[in-house]
Amino acid sequence: MFRHPRVRARVARLGVVLALTGIALIPVTRAHAYALLGIYPPTYFGFGYSEGSFASSADRSAIEYGASAWSNSPAPITFQLSGTNYHVNTSSSNAGNTGWDGITGGWQYTGNTCSNGFSQLQMATLVLNHTYTQSESTAQIEHVATHELGHVIGLDHSTDSNAIMYNNGYNHTTPQTDDVNGVQDIYNHC
Ligand SMILES: [Zn+2]
Repeated sequence: MFRHPRVRARVARLGVVLALTGIALIPVTRAHAYALLGIYPPTYFGFGYSEGSFASSADRSAIEYGASAWSNSPAPITFQLSGTNYHVNTSSSNAGNTGWDGITGGWQYTGNTCSNGFSQLQMATLVLNHTYTQSESTAQIEHVATHELGHVIGLDHSTDSNAIMYNNGYNHTTPQTDDVNGVQDIYNHC
């Protein structure tokens, strides 16, 4: 079953290495820049997220910002904080010099598939790395949180440098047109 951690490049020195690693995974030709993981959200594109422990209030606030950013975007997706009915658990910790400032993994699936073969997400885990975020600006942490929540929705990395799902450094804190188009693509099938 599809299961792998999504690694975000740190803004500075590790970005180049990870970007070079990622290039080989990106198809050369596509009509759009976004890429899809092959999963779709569990409950009609509105689903809960929970909050575990956070190493800082800034990390927690960034997750809440990212959830609102997606919910308020034109993308057909809504995140709602819930302690009981949720499909992604969010947290932050001092994970050390790992090379990622945010990671989404622990993928579990319901067993349902949509018409294009995508698997329905049951649960995922999103972690921010406070080892790095403690020296990042509020906007940079918000960027990481919104980006990682994009993986939860089912988006892979985009080749559009303007997209929130672009994986080589800080740009925006909110989903952009390419990101919205990617979510719409999933929604149109599942
Ligand atoms: Zn990523």
